[in-house]
Amino acid sequence: LGSGLYLGIRTESTAAASVSDPPAEKYEYQAEVSRLMDLIVNSLYSNKEVFLRELVSNASDALDKLRFLSVMDSGLLKDGVELDIRVQTDKDNGVITITDTGIGMTREELVDCLGTIAQSGTAKFFKALKDSKDAGSDNNLIGQFGVGFYSAFLVADRVVVSTKSPRSDKQYVWEAEANASTYTVREETDPEKLIPRGTRLTLYLKHDDKGFAHPERIQRLLKNYSQFVSFPIYTWEEKG
Ligand code: ADP
Ligand code: MG
Repeated sequence: LGSGLYLGIRTESTAAASVSDPPAEKYEYQAEVSRLMDLIVNSLYSNKEVFLRELVSNASDALDKLRFLSVMDSGLLKDGVELDIRVQTDKDNGVITITDTGIGMTREELVDCLGTIAQSGTAKFFKALKDSKDAGSDNNLIGQFGVGFYSAFLVADRVVVSTKSPRSDKQYVWEAEANASTYTVREETDPEKLIPRGTRLTLYLKHDDKGFAHPERIQRLLKNYSQFVSFPIYTWEEKG
């Protein structure tokens, strides 16, 4: 694995959903991302529940970044939106939504952060996993390293990330299916889906993993894995 920044490769534009919608652009993952996703899915299939810890810790990191930056630029908080994390479950449809009011991502950050392995935590995990595989054991890695965003695909066959950075006046949507080599990015235009700030992740669970969308299960996992998160985590259930 090299270090540094990789740019997503834009391959083509997909058809716009309607005449007025800006088109979704299709990108190919950096090759290491595809390999990492295979590794995660093949090594952690018996430990799928780590996805929640990873996604909640990303939400918490995003809130930390916003709080840190707001020390220098208090305007970042002027919209009055609380710093919190919301986990919503819809068990009838097998959907989990994780929303934070953190720093969000610009369009460029979406491509850099969710299409490449530029940052160190994931790269370290990748290397350690390979080393331990070579040594014939990969037991204790999950505890040591965050496996990151791509663990969403342990349980979801489609992931949608809608995000609004205070440095951008637009909200963008990243979308991908499990086992795919490409993802799309488009502008969020549905007024009902606009958020003032932060990130909303929607996980459309795999058929066999829909049980994760039960509120009791989510609450138990949050208690086990995320009890030291320093922002409030609210859970609620979508009533069908
Ligand atoms: P890590 O958390 O170790 O950096 P991840 O794979 O978990 O690696 O996440 C990759 C990057 O994607 C993060 O570093 C961050 O820049 C971005 N990211 C992920 N989730 C969020 C989020 N909820 N809000 C803002 N940025 C995020
Ligand atoms: Mg992370």
